Amino acid sequence: MHKAARGTVLATLGGGAAFLVQKAHGQVVWQVDATRCLNSRLGVVGVEACKLCTTECVVALSAVRAVNEYSRCGRCNICPAYFNITSAVDERGLPSEKLCPRDAITRKPIGKADPEDPANNFYEYLIDEEKCDGCGKCVMQCKEPLGLGSIVLRIRYNRCVDCNRCAISRACPKDALIQVPVEQALRSQDGGRA
Ligand code: SF4
Ligand code: SF4
Ligand code: SF4
Repeated sequence: MHKAARGTVLATLGGGAAFLVQKAHGQVVWQVDATRCLNSRLGVVGVEACKLCTTECVVALSAVRAVNEYSRCGRCNICPAYFNITSAVDERGLPSEKLCPRDAITRKPIGKADPEDPANNFYEYLIDEEKCDGCGKCVMQCKEPLGLGSIVLRIRYNRCVDCNRCAISRACPKDALIQVPVEQALRSQDGGRA
């Protein structure tokens, strides 16, 4: 990439993406393949989330984060990745407990919420990457029958130290850690906004 263009991109991109731009053209980096990962793959439901992306990474708190791809998110009123949908219902008709053990997901109404018509209220679900440790619980829940699979696990390059052989790849039961070209990793970094 031309030096001036690279500078412009660096100035406008978020943390993980900015680190990627500094890598050489054609270099490969590790990433989670959502079509193989147990937590991300559609069709795998009713089982405990795999936590190996959290426990096996050599970086403290892991370099893997949950990322919500907003273009695919249903902005649901009762999001199964935000709420513990098996918890008791409160006075507003919502589950009383959250799902994330680290309280890393926030919920904000999109526009003005109408309490008389909850099914027609829509929400933005944002993941705080300072808190998230990539445990995968929300990813596992954001799938059928209630979720759309918009939350996936991704390696964040402002945290990853780019091990020669990713420690998670050694442990992953689905061989879901793959090496991809920098350009491809760059395109898949951000979830976008609602
Ligand atoms: S170790 Fe593999 S299956 Fe487990 S969460 Fe990570 S990518 Fe998914
Ligand atoms: S991956 Fe785990 S820690 Fe991160 S937002 Fe989801 S439930 Fe919370
Ligand atoms: S390459 Fe190393 S730092 Fe990066 S995700 Fe894998 S184990 Fe973690």
